[in-house]
Amino acid sequence: MALLMDTRLFLRKVKDLRCLTPRRNRVKEKWAFNRTKYPPTSLALQHFDATHSLQLGPLWPSVRAALLSEKKYGALLNNFSYDVVRADLEAQGCRDFLRDTETEVSGAQPFLEQESEVVGDEESSGVSISKKSGIDGQQLSPLHLSPHIKCFVFPRGDITRFKPAKPDSCGLLGYYLMDAASLLPCLALDVQEGHNVLDLCAAPGGKTLALLQAQSIGFLCVNDASVSRTMRLRKVLNSYIPKPLFDEKLRITSFDGTLWGEMERNTFDRVLVDVPCTTDRHSLMEDDNNIFCKSRTGERRKLPQLQLELLMAGIEAACPSGEILYSTCTLSQIQNQSVVEQAIALAQENHGIKLQVVDLRPLTHMFRKTFHFAPDLHLGEMVVPHLAANFGPIYMCKLRRLT
Ligand code: SAM
Repeated sequence: MALLMDTRLFLRKVKDLRCLTPRRNRVKEKWAFNRTKYPPTSLALQHFDATHSLQLGPLWPSVRAALLSEKKYGALLNNFSYDVVRADLEAQGCRDFLRDTETEVSGAQPFLEQESEVVGDEESSGVSISKKSGIDGQQLSPLHLSPHIKCFVFPRGDITRFKPAKPDSCGLLGYYLMDAASLLPCLALDVQEGHNVLDLCAAPGGKTLALLQAQSIGFLCVNDASVSRTMRLRKVLNSYIPKPLFDEKLRITSFDGTLWGEMERNTFDRVLVDVPCTTDRHSLMEDDNNIFCKSRTGERRKLPQLQLELLMAGIEAACPSGEILYSTCTLSQIQNQSVVEQAIALAQENHGIKLQVVDLRPLTHMFRKTFHFAPDLHLGEMVVPHLAANFGPIYMCKLRRLT
């Protein structure tokens, strides 16, 4: 009897609560059949629980919690804007994470590239690639960070949101909000004075903007296969880059990037290949434009092949001794390390191109207090989301053409 009374009381409370919800926002039960039984976000979570848990092991529950929580942004400062936003950001408690490295690495040797490894030799079709088995003691060229790239973040554990940037007197915005970990592939690319650079999959343009901030680029080809996304990219660049620089240094195209190797072979000093992927964070949080939507299953399954073709095109488009940076925003090994391994083998077999994997540990060491990196990745580096530093996922692997 008491249980019956409790249940009635509970149902009345639920009814009362419903009355608090404005009528227009209430969901009528009779419409419920219209709702997708398995929304893409749930399918994505099921998929990641099955795959990422195997890959990340005991790390997965904490990475999963971070992926399902609010992500953190960084504010990439726009050097071309007259607005002095730096002081304002500092007053809010932000810091430029790129300038914090000196203290972070005391006692270490962060500016020396550590051992790297040559792969893709004559017997390389079944290459076993490991960055840990490099040439002992070899010290390579130092890693330079452009003093012009500045990105402000709130301290660890602080998820304060940035205010939207305002236009200056010329209409240019003071900063661009992006996942601060997205900056790492641009830093790893290490663009030097006068370099000819290709950004193969560039829209909506966060990394393009970061590359332009360094002010060292000779010429930048910006490409994205999607016409609508290229229009969005153009709009972004117009809001941040002065017109003379735009006209002098940029070429924007909308070609299928997989064809670039045939179009412009052996041309670029640096190539950024930031491929389409399962965009893990977006796939878990947004049902709109979600690659786990049932109708996009075929497209999702073909992603590793498309990624491989794009990376191959990037390798071919780079000049001998040029460098290629492959990046994704997924934790998936099939879309990350496996694609790079296949590309290294194919480049040698089909084109006679030998590649060296560049060790990015100096970079991860430098920023180890800002980001959490996956431990012991056998190829490349990966920022893994963490509740106290909720950036990423970002995977990156750098290749150098030896021939
Ligand atoms: N680099 C961008 C940034 O930082 O803002 C993000 C790039 S997003 C991860 C991948 C992009 O690849 C998408 O904009 C998509 O339109 C583009 N894409 C997909 N297939 C492509 C292809 N075959 N060739 C070139 N771009 C392609």
